[in-house]
Amino acid sequence: MTITVAIIGRPNVGKSTLFNRLVGQRLALVDDTPGVTRDRREGQANLFGLEFRVIDTAGLEEIFDASLEGRMRAQTERAVAEADLALLVIDARAGITALDEHFARWLRRSGTPVALVANKCEGREAEAGLSDAYSLGLGQAIPISAEHGLGMSDLYDAVAAVAGAAEQAAASESEAAEAEETEAEGVLQLAVVGRPNVGKSTLINKLIGEERLLTGPEAGITRDAIAVEWTYRGRPLRLVDTAGLRRKARVVQKIEKLSTQDTLRAIRFAQVVVLLLDVEEGLEKQDLTIARMVVEEGRALVIGVNKWDACRERDAALAGIRDRLERSLPQTRGIPVVTLSALQGHNIDALLAAVFRAYDVWNRRVPTADLNRWLEAVTASHPPPAVNGRRVRLKYMTQAKTRPPTFAIFVSKPQELPTSYLRYLENGLREAFDLPGTPIRINFRKGENPYAGRKKKPAKKRVR
Ligand code: GDP
Ligand code: GDP
Repeated sequence: MTITVAIIGRPNVGKSTLFNRLVGQRLALVDDTPGVTRDRREGQANLFGLEFRVIDTAGLEEIFDASLEGRMRAQTERAVAEADLALLVIDARAGITALDEHFARWLRRSGTPVALVANKCEGREAEAGLSDAYSLGLGQAIPISAEHGLGMSDLYDAVAAVAGAAEQAAASESEAAEAEETEAEGVLQLAVVGRPNVGKSTLINKLIGEERLLTGPEAGITRDAIAVEWTYRGRPLRLVDTAGLRRKARVVQKIEKLSTQDTLRAIRFAQVVVLLLDVEEGLEKQDLTIARMVVEEGRALVIGVNKWDACRERDAALAGIRDRLERSLPQTRGIPVVTLSALQGHNIDALLAAVFRAYDVWNRRVPTADLNRWLEAVTASHPPPAVNGRRVRLKYMTQAKTRPPTFAIFVSKPQELPTSYLRYLENGLREAFDLPGTPIRINFRKGENPYAGRKKKPAKKRVR
């Protein structure tokens, strides 16, 4: 797993010199005349043993002077799109120019993580430019001298952090993919849970029974099996843990209690859990306990409001349930609520449709570039609170896995982010990427990475 790093910046800042230093060969022409090198060049870089692919865009960039059109711009764009990290190089001795600002804006929008690199820092003349660099909105610059090979260990940290993140993401992705394969090839695992007497058996019989009518008696449905499989509109699903049904068949008098242990087992076997309620009883404490278990176990939740046929005050009942749900599980906005009558077989279709929708959301994957564009926007409009006068910086984000959607955000000081900010991010993600009602997990990782906010002040920073 090697990552790709693109070197970006206006002409003459030292991109080719940096490229040569990283690749270790004096391949490119280096000249004071801007635009001496023309073709996009790629090489295999080695920085203190860390290998990565590096793309030099020197010679492609001057088109930014005049117009935003053209083949060269397209090539630069492609380099950035391909890259896991863009190094925006500025000339610290020259200070910040309009063209640097243009590149910074453009890169921030690209969604590709950016590390700001201030070149030509070997002498005093660089100091002002280095501190001005912060105004580009890309955090503190990494001071280097490409020509003299200084500051390379800081550059190493920046690249290594991205390489580490990419590796972690790839590892958990393949883990998740493996898990998905072993998880019965696309069969949705469904559990129906709820307090005694809400109508679980009636619903399950309806689900299976109706399918029987459709598929005929030889479909091989065994009622007292632990798991029952059938297809709904061409999509396979399996009802897990119907042990409760079997038990009930033998017990005439229903003195069944809600067994937390049984419920938890069913939840763990399942991917989507229908929590069935009796509309007359509403959403009670026990129901909320189950709902929380489902969310904590990272399963998709659908609320089924049963016995709708017998309900008089429908609007009030439903409003009460929704209200309680929203207040009690505020971090999981948008849990689907479906009213039904298991007895009359009414709205079973809507329930299953909600189940498959919840499953799809639970499986959703958001592209990394979209996530980083979003992170940039939300942290700009509502930045995390400053601690001891220092802003906690969130600079890179990736979706580590699905089922449920799990995100990793690299943060300068994860422990200093308040829970309220986590909620803000969760809800924002939900809205931006259409993830209603599914548990969302966000893991904050300590970002020793470039865009995770550099702690040291540039003025104090010395280039060795
Ligand atoms: P590019 O157009 O961005 O690819 O820039 P080049 O790599 O061609 O460098 C432009 C000029 O800056 C050349 O004269 C280099 O010798 C000079 N240069 C590159 N790196 C440094 C550095 O670290 N310090 C100083 N003082 N000059 C540098
Ligand atoms: P379980 O304990 O959750 O499995 O509940 P059951 O399926 O055994 O149902 C308990 C009682 O509720 C039975 O008397 C059912 O006939 C009744 N019931 C189930 N679903 C409905 C429904 O949609 N409407 C009405 N009015 N009664 C229902």
